[in-house]
Amino acid sequence: MANAKINEDLVRERKNATFDVVELTNLLDGNKEKTNRRKELGKGLNIMFCWIPGHSGIIGNEMADKAARRPATVVDNFVPLCDALQAVKNQLTKKWQRTWDEQNQNKLHDIQPMVKPLKNCALNRKQSVVLNRLRIGHTRLTHKFLLLSEPPPTCTRCQCILSVKHILVHCPNFDIHKRNRFGGNICLKDLLGEIPHPNLFHFLHDIGIYELI
Ligand SMILES: [Zn+2]
Repeated sequence: MANAKINEDLVRERKNATFDVVELTNLLDGNKEKTNRRKELGKGLNIMFCWIPGHSGIIGNEMADKAARRPATVVDNFVPLCDALQAVKNQLTKKWQRTWDEQNQNKLHDIQPMVKPLKNCALNRKQSVVLNRLRIGHTRLTHKFLLLSEPPPTCTRCQCILSVKHILVHCPNFDIHKRNRFGGNICLKDLLGEIPHPNLFHFLHDIGIYELI
């Protein structure tokens, strides 16, 4: 490093250091006699010691050593707030969907099996009321008996308790009208789902219940 700052300990150490190979060898062996004895035992092998500068005192190298000695390098895992919120929202939606998947006896489940907002449709006030009542399955026609403390109404043809699903999907009384408006039988999701069928209100007028919803 070109501008490396040498620390004071290293300056002092280098000042007292020797670069004499014989002196270094004697020092590392212990003393001159021990060096001579080792050479005798080495049978001609000549081992020499020399000094090689270490990392000490060089700022960049000391920083690298310090970083390497850290138990773990800290990784900056920055996540933008909007991404974190979106992840939480996704997890909650998945959990909500799993709960909703188990509610398959719920009237709304047939109409909206996915947990997501219904789209706004260009409907007038009356049409919006009719559509929402059909979606939740509670209409004046099928549920006014609760207010009047009467028995529930039944289909005059099928003799079953009258329900929105029966009227719109199952009752054969309206097969001709369903063929005319929908081309045949149709499910609740296609009738009342995210985008209601464009002929829904025509059909309700045809069978005479639009004003009874
Ligand atoms: Zn019926």
